[in-house]
Amino acid sequence: MGRVPSVDVIDELVANNRAFAASLPAQHLDVRPRRQLAIVTCMDSRLDVFAALGLKDGEAHVLRNAGGVITDDVIRSLAVSQRRLGTREVMLIHHTDCGMQTLTDDGFRAELQEVTGVAPAFAIESFTDVHADVRQSILRVRRSDFLPHRDRVRGFVYDVDTHALDEVQVDEDA
Ligand SMILES: [Zn+2]
Repeated sequence: MGRVPSVDVIDELVANNRAFAASLPAQHLDVRPRRQLAIVTCMDSRLDVFAALGLKDGEAHVLRNAGGVITDDVIRSLAVSQRRLGTREVMLIHHTDCGMQTLTDDGFRAELQEVTGVAPAFAIESFTDVHADVRQSILRVRRSDFLPHRDRVRGFVYDVDTHALDEVQVDEDA
């Protein structure tokens, strides 16, 4: 790919942190997010969630995985977020040009099995239509009985080139 990551990249980040910590006064924020919000989004390196949404430290939970998929583990985190840490709204953000659109469930599963001899127990959760996948994710959250607050769940697609959010509407009867 023409890009060779430095073997010392983590050392560089640790040094960055030293300067960061030295530049700020110590503070203690409440463990409960001030805006009572949880965000589920992709691990994509181009989406700076706090900057893109104007959020500050201590304001929201941010759960990230490949694709921003609503897995059992995301439901686990949302259950803790809502039942112990006071969040009430869920914002889902997928994005354009997602790595999950570069693979298929069957193809990636076969690849993992071929190189390791073991078929993964987890679902791959690839997708082609990002808007349709946001709709699916909204429905998964709304239909999870583990979550007490499901009336304010909204989904968006973030354009990684323009930085703009596009809201995805859901027909509940679909
Ligand atoms: Zn992605």
